[in-house]
Amino acid sequence: MDWLLTNARLTDHADTVDIAIADGRIAQIGPALALPAAQRWELDGRVVLPGLVDPHVHLDKTYLNSSGSYPNRSGTLLEAIDVWRTAKKERTRSDVRAAVRRALYTAITNGVTAMRTHIDTEEPSDLETLAAILEVRDEFRYAIDLQIVALAFAGTSPVIDRTMADALALGADSVGGAPALVPDPQASLSTIFGLAQRTGKPIDLHIDETEDPTSRTLFALAEMTIAAGMQGQVTAGHCCSLAFTDDADAGKIIEKVAEARLHVVTLPSCNLVLMGRGMQPTPRGVTRVKELLAAGVNVCAGSDNVQDPFNPFGSYDPLETANLTGHTAHMTGESDLRACLGMVTSRAAHALGLPDYGLTVGAPADLLVLDTMTPADIVTAPPPRLATFKAGRLIVRTQTEREWTHLTGSVQA
Ligand SMILES: [Zn+2]
Repeated sequence: MDWLLTNARLTDHADTVDIAIADGRIAQIGPALALPAAQRWELDGRVVLPGLVDPHVHLDKTYLNSSGSYPNRSGTLLEAIDVWRTAKKERTRSDVRAAVRRALYTAITNGVTAMRTHIDTEEPSDLETLAAILEVRDEFRYAIDLQIVALAFAGTSPVIDRTMADALALGADSVGGAPALVPDPQASLSTIFGLAQRTGKPIDLHIDETEDPTSRTLFALAEMTIAAGMQGQVTAGHCCSLAFTDDADAGKIIEKVAEARLHVVTLPSCNLVLMGRGMQPTPRGVTRVKELLAAGVNVCAGSDNVQDPFNPFGSYDPLETANLTGHTAHMTGESDLRACLGMVTSRAAHALGLPDYGLTVGAPADLLVLDTMTPADIVTAPPPRLATFKAGRLIVRTQTEREWTHLTGSVQA
């Protein structure tokens, strides 16, 4: 064995177990495995999770606000898009590489082993940014699976459509778009499906990121997915307007979403920041997570924008996202919290089409160790991460030393 992790606590086992890792995969899981191993780690009952999955981020925009140079004064989505269009002209390839490296370093330290990022592909100069991100993807391939979505207002100009096709040829994995934000959403969807079918790539869209209760792009997307026979290959991010629609209409839309087997990504941090500006009482802007789950839809949760003109918050921590999902979707019971964890682990892995995901024998040994012995803490109070393994290799191990000067009596952490 390459590694033997002893006395690990898994969320689906009553007792602690040992995890044996060989050739990049989980070789055995069981109590007291007496196996020779090149390296051993006694975990003393600490929690081990399968690698975290962030299904929706924007690496080309990330950390633009670290310097405070690109403020979004109204805080709205539309001003964010304007500010970003100016900012990206000033950002060099080397700036992009540095920001993306920082983002991946942070995410991997938090236990992320797979991520999907949207990258703007509106004009030929965006392809230079894409090339820089593809280089960083190769550099970090040993530590994280990174999928790229080509994002633009598809179908609104020949330049955009050509740039998207070029991005997919260069190495982007999925066709993106934001059809609710263009004058003719149906035409944009047709272009997107045409590109997907010509290239054989899946679709991942920003859908109905608006408070308008009459925005029905999600329904149109579900219908088109069924017509194209692409059930299970299409992801819809945001779906905010669903929360502003009345219950009867929302029920019909959700039924169609389930029939089309769409994956839905909720993005609570950005929705809280961008949606409902100026409205009283201020809505949360988050989609109907509980109703979608009850209808059998694969719902997952992502970071979205991190420290850029769209959103000043975020730290590439899917457990923080799971925690925010619990808050915003009123998911507070034991099974709710388990579902929130699923949204940044197995459900997100399903949306990304990751094969053999999970802590099971034969699966790739992508996992993280948390500094807690209490699984209930994972979502309610995300604990520090101690290590991330990718394909059986220890990628990062964090060691901290704490000194408490006046503590009397013992405290179980
Ligand atoms: Zn987004």
